[in-house]
Amino acid sequence: MNCDKCGVDASLAYRDVDGFAYYLCETCISGWDAVRSPSPDSSDDARSTAR
Ligand SMILES: [Zn+2]
Repeated sequence: MNCDKCGVDASLAYRDVDGFAYYLCETCISGWDAVRSPSPDSSDDARSTAR
C-alpha cells in the first residue's frame, strides 16, 4: 500500500483526521501530529461524550 500523503510504499497505519480516513506511513504520522495542535484532552472528551 502507498501512503496517502507522500505516496511511499510502506506499512501504513490508519488515521482518522477530522472525519476523513487516511493511511499514512510512520513518518507522515509523526509529521501530522506535529502539525496538528496537541490536544490530548479531546480524545478523552469524545469518550465521555459517547457514554
Ligand atoms: Zn507518508
